[in-house]
Amino acid sequence: MNAVSLLCDIIGQAGKVAARAYRDDARFGALLDAGLLEDDGLVQSVLCENCDLPHDAEIKFEFGSYGHFCPDLGLVPVERADLVAVRPNLAALVEHLHAAFECPPGGISQLGPQTWRVGLVDTPGGRAVVHFHTCLRTDDDLVSLGNALRAEIRRDYALVVTAAGHLPFRDAATYPLATMVQMDLGAACLRKIVSVAEAVGAPPRPTGGRPSVYRERFHELLAERAAQVVAEKGRNEEAKAALLEYRRRYPHETTPSLSTVKAYVSEFRGG
Ligand SMILES: [Zn+2]
Repeated sequence: MNAVSLLCDIIGQAGKVAARAYRDDARFGALLDAGLLEDDGLVQSVLCENCDLPHDAEIKFEFGSYGHFCPDLGLVPVERADLVAVRPNLAALVEHLHAAFECPPGGISQLGPQTWRVGLVDTPGGRAVVHFHTCLRTDDDLVSLGNALRAEIRRDYALVVTAAGHLPFRDAATYPLATMVQMDLGAACLRKIVSVAEAVGAPPRPTGGRPSVYRERFHELLAERAAQVVAEKGRNEEAKAALLEYRRRYPHETTPSLSTVKAYVSEFRGG
């Protein structure tokens, strides 16, 4: 999993997460450095793993120290440092995306509780507007997106980038964040993997055989395999498995060579 996938995972949890769980994870540090995660007080509950039956337990502050109550063990003390919480900084993420997609200055706006306008991008086929919407996993998410975009001006193309799930939406192409951008660890910023033009299929989406289409589809497929925790560890094994899956999904289309797919796997895992 790369840093952006980890960010998506945290956004998908829709709230604060304990920094402790990620303390030794370099990707977590990179997200903090880039301002994509921010401090958010202390977590209110922990998973008790001290007894036979793991359970959620509320944090209590008693007699000058923190702890949680366990039916088996009574009050179990917890270090304050282990309770520090972080949450995704979505406004910062939107600014990072604005820069990564090379949008002209201005245009960033929060349109709803889950939805932001990232900016405009000129493509060979016309002007595209890019939005970020946290999750597209349920009908409620789709309704929330529809409401947020109601007053938006129509452009030639519309793209909605999401951190978790990408249900199809009637008025825009949807694309998973983790296949669209990756983290540049040195510069602490996001870089695009797929251009907005490719993501919206501008100019008119070709029907296979084109490298950009292969690349887009493989990145999506690899992200899905990673999310479902079925990705192979080795690059070659993963490339072979992804190619099989691609043939199953697009049985009537040409396929790229195995070496090309290996390159997509490297690219996908790079950030
Ligand atoms: Zn317990």
